[in-house]
Amino acid sequence: MAVRQLRYEGDEILRKKCKEVTVVDDKIRELLDDMLDTLHTMPNGAAIAACQVGVLKRLVVIDMGNGVIKLVNPKITGTSGVQESIEGCLSFPDKAGITVRPKKVTVQAQNEFGEEILLEGEDLMAKCLCHEIEHLDGRVFLEHVISFVD
Ligand SMILES: [Zn+2]
Repeated sequence: MAVRQLRYEGDEILRKKCKEVTVVDDKIRELLDDMLDTLHTMPNGAAIAACQVGVLKRLVVIDMGNGVIKLVNPKITGTSGVQESIEGCLSFPDKAGITVRPKKVTVQAQNEFGEEILLEGEDLMAKCLCHEIEHLDGRVFLEHVISFVD
């Protein structure tokens, strides 16, 4: 377990595509734990993608206060509805804006043991899942901002 260096705006790695994880082993579990440790050092952190700690693997951890979720190779398989809300990113601490996102999403992934899981997210969780899974493709929330807020 260790805190890793967070990558910030301007770092090329945030724009790169992360690679599929083929084997979920102890190294991957250790990385997921490190991501969680790193997330927990951020007062407003809800989630983090591996590229945000400089590793180009398709991994996400989420902790929105009601349990930790660790996702390996997550992908969005369904969306419905729309929501507008304020969105930000740990890697872009000086920027926040109103974004338009689906209200509900369905995500297929593997857990930290390599088992297939399905999860559904609504409202904040839906926004979070979209945001993090986009990070894995080198995309950031700025493209969804309809108006920036101070
Ligand atoms: Zn982010």
